[in-house]
Amino acid sequence: MTKPGVLYVVATPIGNLGDISARARAVLAAVSVVAAEDTRHSGHLLRELGLERPLLSLHEHNERARAAELVERLLSGEDVALISDAGTPLVSDPGYQLLQAALAAGVPVSPVPGSCAAIAALSVAGLPGDRFCFEGFLPPRAAARRRRIAALAGETRTLILYEAPHRIAASLADLAAVLGGERRACVARELTKQFESFYRGTLGELAELAARDASLGRGESVIVIAGAEPQRPAGSELDATLGVLLRHLSPSAAAAAAAEITGHGRNEAYARALALVAATAPVGTESDDA
Ligand code: SAM
Repeated sequence: MTKPGVLYVVATPIGNLGDISARARAVLAAVSVVAAEDTRHSGHLLRELGLERPLLSLHEHNERARAAELVERLLSGEDVALISDAGTPLVSDPGYQLLQAALAAGVPVSPVPGSCAAIAALSVAGLPGDRFCFEGFLPPRAAARRRRIAALAGETRTLILYEAPHRIAASLADLAAVLGGERRACVARELTKQFESFYRGTLGELAELAARDASLGRGESVIVIAGAEPQRPAGSELDATLGVLLRHLSPSAAAAAAAEITGHGRNEAYARALALVAATAPVGTESDDA
């Protein structure tokens, strides 16, 4: 049986050609065919990199048919590279159908990581990067956009959004209106390009800036937004948690665990634990570590 080829999912630069990796170059030079979102655009990129490879278009309108054709070639032993117009394929870009078809056929797939606008923006936004939530593009229509933003209002992780240049002002206005003008945010514009710029402030300030300064809507942007403040659980939740823990632990151990579970302070949890023990203990007894 012929050994199948490898489907390489290759990241390309989001602006600065210097960001192509040595491995991406080597893989693109070696594969039988490069599947690209826009063959004219990618042909230009390959020429700039000094590479000549056969290109095949793969975009949202032909992806299913192309996937079947490419999987046949992979099964016959050819290596294939998938690239998109910029950045990492499948991140708000085509490639999902091809990947699914390749995995279903038992074809090995391998990532060649590199640029991604979301990660580049997050890395300099000035907002927490340890837990984040990538939401891609908001819906283009205002009512649906506001509904989606409302659904994200309680999200405590840093939010990352992509946006088209002509919608950046409207989206920032809706984000400020629905999430509140005080949330900290960063608009990262034209990353890695000549006019790379960052706008940091509250959503209210950024919405106001976008409304009066057209330069914010020139070029591509990523919006990074601070997550919502975690909601402290109601006191009854602390009591309920302590109620269970006190059946197995001393008040101090139960308080430490309950504080961690509910987000309440340790002192507050300990005081509640003592109060609960006192309320349930027979008159004249003392808790083990009070
Ligand atoms: N796959 C790409 C990636 O890995 O980032 C994203 C493709 S998505 C169709 C295009 C969106 O990515 C743009 O509308 C913009 O929000 C963001 N983007 C891409 N390049 C960018 C850049 N150089 N600076 C800022 N945002 C960029």
